[in-house]
Amino acid sequence: MKYLKDLNLGGKHILVRADLNISTNNSLQPGDEVRLKQLAPTLKAIVEAGGKPIIMGHCAPPSGKVNPENSLRPCVKRLAELTKIDVQFAPDCVGPIVTEMVKNLEPGRAILLENLRFHPGEESNDPQFAQALATLGQVYVNDAFSASHLRHASIVGLPAYCKEKCAGLLVQAEMAAYEKTLLKPKKPLCVVMGGAKVSTKFLILNNIAALADKLIIGGAMANTFLAAQGIQMGRSLYEKELIPKVLELFAVLARRGVQLYLPVDAMVGPSSAAKGLGRAVPVQELPADMMALDIGPATSLLFREAIQNAETVIWSGPMGAFENEEYAKGTTDMIETLASAHAVTLVGGGETNSAIQQMQLGHKFSHLSVGGRSFLQLMEGKSLPGLVMLDK
Ligand code: ADP
Ligand code: MG
Repeated sequence: MKYLKDLNLGGKHILVRADLNISTNNSLQPGDEVRLKQLAPTLKAIVEAGGKPIIMGHCAPPSGKVNPENSLRPCVKRLAELTKIDVQFAPDCVGPIVTEMVKNLEPGRAILLENLRFHPGEESNDPQFAQALATLGQVYVNDAFSASHLRHASIVGLPAYCKEKCAGLLVQAEMAAYEKTLLKPKKPLCVVMGGAKVSTKFLILNNIAALADKLIIGGAMANTFLAAQGIQMGRSLYEKELIPKVLELFAVLARRGVQLYLPVDAMVGPSSAAKGLGRAVPVQELPADMMALDIGPATSLLFREAIQNAETVIWSGPMGAFENEEYAKGTTDMIETLASAHAVTLVGGGETNSAIQQMQLGHKFSHLSVGGRSFLQLMEGKSLPGLVMLDK
């Protein structure tokens, strides 16, 4: 894969596919700031190399129709502030007005195109739409890591019409972290999984079973593993239909010599919202009328010891229903363990990231992936269609 430094950008119009999936109410929310901040280095690097960025992005939900609530216009001011680049807003992403604006764009300036999803051709990957976008520039840069799993026009269609293409700095950082932790990890590699469900992460478990030295399972996901071992889970959330698959996984892990760590105690309570009723019990003694809502203190200690000698750790999924502080300790303990570990650490997942941000410990991790579905897809051992196109 090529990166910005590998191409001559001077004097060229650079089509930058960015992740601009902001809130949909015509004003930037605090969470949107992160995406714009992450795009800024790529834009600055392009302008410093003499290129003229034409920025493209989508803003959900899927529609194919013009909806002023999903305009990308609110990004312009903040992007300009963050990059110190004069960013103009184009009222559409294709058409004569846009072509004219692009033609007149002076060096040192950038254009942000309106939401790609206002055109049905974006999501249907219409070749004509992709070609129309391609006429606006000479180089294609994919910096939309979290959209790179989508087979949409701006992700997989457009690069086919561009001779010169490469990954932006955000994609570069994500791929470097992925390579360092999953593809070529310093061993032992320890994978920590949690969150709500086994089903959404089962493909990852299968892939990781072939790569990891240690597998640590917490969260509601652990409930299904414990149930598969014959433990009575009371009213806890678990996926009964997945028990046969989990049993198969146990066999694969044993055959491959992967060490598996499951909770030995849990914080139980009547519901994830209940206050003042949580208590720790050994998993063998979960009350029939209670739910296991977090890992217990003995489990936190066990997991901490297991992580001690790891050189690389990948983590996705909270250890408990951490939105209620009564069931947050397992997750905050894990964050503290990893923040102070000497291992290379990669974290992915919306809720996992937000738990780390809440504790303001993001800087103690080697990399926090913003990939969402794209991150999970890489963990499943699959490639991302948008990034594959950069090599074609
Ligand atoms: P991520 O977004 O980090 O990938 P998931 O979406 O898989 O994580 O799961 C996060 C959710 O899992 C959280 O909202 C949390 O409340 C829930 N969760 C974790 N453990 C439990 C549990 N034991 N019981 C109920 N919900 C849980
Ligand atoms: Mg989630």
